[in-house]
Amino acid sequence: MKTKVNFVRGLKGMGVVIMITYNKSRVIFDFGAPFEPLTQIYDGTVLIRNKKRVKDALLLNQAPMIDYLYSKESLDDINLKPAEENPFETAIFISHCHKDHMSEIDKVDPSIPIYFHHLGLKLKQTLETIEEEPYYREYSGFEYHEKIVVGEIEVTAFFSDHTCIGSASFLIKTPDCTIIYSGDIRFHGLEAEKAWQAVKQICKNKIDLLIVDSTTTSSSEFVYSENEIEELNLPSKEILKGMISEQNIFDDIRKQLNNHKGIAVFNLYHRDIRMLEHLIKIAKEYKRKAVFEPHTAYIINELLNIPVNVMFPDNNLTYDFYEKVKNNNNIIFKKEVIDNPSDYFVQNTYKNILELTDYDGIEGIYFHLFGEPLVKGQSHYKTMANIIDKLNWRFFSYINLYSFSHAYPNHLAYYIKKLNPITVVAVHSTNPKALNPVNAKHYLPKENVDYYLINGKLIEK
Ligand SMILES: [Zn+2]
Repeated sequence: MKTKVNFVRGLKGMGVVIMITYNKSRVIFDFGAPFEPLTQIYDGTVLIRNKKRVKDALLLNQAPMIDYLYSKESLDDINLKPAEENPFETAIFISHCHKDHMSEIDKVDPSIPIYFHHLGLKLKQTLETIEEEPYYREYSGFEYHEKIVVGEIEVTAFFSDHTCIGSASFLIKTPDCTIIYSGDIRFHGLEAEKAWQAVKQICKNKIDLLIVDSTTTSSSEFVYSENEIEELNLPSKEILKGMISEQNIFDDIRKQLNNHKGIAVFNLYHRDIRMLEHLIKIAKEYKRKAVFEPHTAYIINELLNIPVNVMFPDNNLTYDFYEKVKNNNNIIFKKEVIDNPSDYFVQNTYKNILELTDYDGIEGIYFHLFGEPLVKGQSHYKTMANIIDKLNWRFFSYINLYSFSHAYPNHLAYYIKKLNPITVVAVHSTNPKALNPVNAKHYLPKENVDYYLINGKLIEK
């Protein structure tokens, strides 16, 4: 028997899915749709169908075409073998709770276990409660360093410092090979130290194959022209050159809040729990009250176990969890903010952007901190920028996912050197060729092809 590796997708960008098989054991790593904000069919206008959602997701290349994962009924007329006939012992492992790594998991038949780090799992369940994630099935949790056995394959997760709580890298051992899948990694975050400690542990193993997040080698995305840098109007232009750390971003915000009179607003991605924690801290330092929308307040209550200030937006939407949010937090009314804008640091998500019109005539500053809309080409992005412009506010946009969430090329090289694998394969990058493999053999596989992994070499089946 030999180990087989299949890079189902994600060799040329986001939406990584990797399948490793040994005999009748099979493990799959990550399970998200490709991130294509400009062509995404489910853009909020088109509704997801109910009974046919699995079929649709497969037809639209959202869910990956893999045999024995989806129930016969859900497959409808899609030509895949159903989960009911699955001859493999199978498990799916999710590196972190970002959509491009897990958006399709709810479609997998419940007979197949899907694992998250227990904090990622807690986040997933919290997102289900606030109706940001669909609820169709249950998931399982793991701890860092816990070994999970799937037939003849062993999987051990390690800490990784990505922008999502409970992020993990995986050590995968089959009877004849050792493979590392990095998940999304970076080494310039506030927990870089802990991330390097994990690398130290992982590199005790002799590694045949390293599958590594190489996002920052997508050079066209990573290197900006002077014009683009000017346009983005960042306090620290260095962010786009990939030379700044997570700490620098928080310091930038501090610099801007210092001496700012008027309201301050932020728009973030609320799965970044550490950013939530830091904005609360920064608000306190500048004697402002951080105020959250109810969805985010609920996440903070659940994941950080603290009460916060919450302001309910003026719309007709109501959710079951609102009651809990009202009971567990301090409610702020719009009038209080309008009367004393300098006392507040207020969250505003794009869907509630009209809430900002109440601050017309008040001096303001808006931090776009990796919230939606993420990509400048999106029409929503232009709408957002237009509204901020109408308010005449200062607008700071941090949307470069590449320099914030993923390891810089020099860190990647050091990481590969430390792990010292025989072969390296780049994933999550539009330009995988640009990865510096250091001493490893740099292999550029094809998607959706079975490779045997023999003595660290990938051989097409
Ligand atoms: Zn990712």
